[in-house]
Amino acid sequence: MPRYFIWTIGCQMNKAESRQMAGCLDSAGYQATTSFDNADLVVLNTCVVRQSAENKVLGTLGLLRGLKSKRPDLRIVVTGCFVNSHTQELQRRFPHVDLLFRPGDYPELVAWGQRQDMPVEQSLLLRPGNGSGMAPSPCALVPIIQGCDNFCSYCIVPYRRGREVSRPPEEIVCEVRELVRQGTREVTLVGQNVDSYGHDLPGRPDLADLLGELHNIDDLARIRFLTNHPKDMSPKLIGTMASLDKVCEHLELPAQSGDDDILKAMRRGYTVERYRELVQTVRNEVPRISLSTDMIAGFPGETEAQFEHSLSLVAEIRFDVVHVAAYSPRPGTIACREYQDDVPAEIKKERLSRIEELQTVVASEINSRLQGKEVEVLVEGRKGGKWFGRSRSNKLVFFEDAGDWLGRLVIVHIQKTSPWSLIGQVKK
Ligand code: SF4
Repeated sequence: MPRYFIWTIGCQMNKAESRQMAGCLDSAGYQATTSFDNADLVVLNTCVVRQSAENKVLGTLGLLRGLKSKRPDLRIVVTGCFVNSHTQELQRRFPHVDLLFRPGDYPELVAWGQRQDMPVEQSLLLRPGNGSGMAPSPCALVPIIQGCDNFCSYCIVPYRRGREVSRPPEEIVCEVRELVRQGTREVTLVGQNVDSYGHDLPGRPDLADLLGELHNIDDLARIRFLTNHPKDMSPKLIGTMASLDKVCEHLELPAQSGDDDILKAMRRGYTVERYRELVQTVRNEVPRISLSTDMIAGFPGETEAQFEHSLSLVAEIRFDVVHVAAYSPRPGTIACREYQDDVPAEIKKERLSRIEELQTVVASEINSRLQGKEVEVLVEGRKGGKWFGRSRSNKLVFFEDAGDWLGRLVIVHIQKTSPWSLIGQVKK
């Protein structure tokens, strides 16, 4: 039986697509393995959103060049955001790679597989799998829309993943039904901007409609979705979140900056006031909502005063989680072309740390309120001798117990909290 290894870095979208490809290869008779060394087929699912990620991809391609020289039969496939539209040029730079295909371009993968005598069919991509040949995990990522039409000035994604293409709702429902049949209890619908879902499909179904359809699937316990765009999140979607009890009270809502001029330079399409109003609407309709956000520190031209507006927004909104990144220019983007990367690296680092320090205090206070409370947790696995899973509000919860709790919805009595996780005792 031929063996495959999928190497994945980057966002949830990449993880979701790797899960689909693994399911496809499992169904086609391949066996998953855990390293490059004993794989017959290697798939690199790449990210170039930051220079550090691109460096990792280049390093891994270098490693595989050495492996291929020792084992010429090794087949190497590369996908993800590293693959731009100039695939011929990439092919010249990396002649040891057998196939480069753009993210989501499965017909290209299938055509190549058939030429290689690999029994891979596109329909197999709908078969659930987790790359281990075993039943899918209790929680699965399901891609619903490819690409992005927004062109935020700092972002390379629209150039690599192309324009938005939604998957038909019946295809998504079919995939989720199959996942649930095999044991999945929670799905997270993913896309670069899930709020755009459906505008390119006949009848223009939207994310709220899709949530309604998925909500009808028996034995599916929870639904999440990410990532949202503050300019596109509709009142209908917020109302649907509030009315469907399987939709978890958690939202990823990237702010990116707390300063209007910086948001304009980023081409985000909203103001800080609009962002505040949106958060207020969500909190009014879904009072127990937990909010995560992304912030960029040191965008070109960001002054100390503008940065302090971002700090104030973090303090004011009191997010549950803040992912902060130092700005890194990506060749090919508007920001890289038009703005000078003029905030020194040490200032970016210092601003990043200030947001992280503030957020540690905020998250610590928010989580400490859960001490002594009971939360519902879907158990995803074991780590360091403890069971772990997520609450509906996406808090990571650990508990110790000798029983087998995998895939079960349990109530955990919280005894200890930190800014990053909760520890408790399972209720029997
Ligand atoms: S919404 Fe903006 S940041 Fe997100 S993928 Fe699209 S262009 Fe990039």
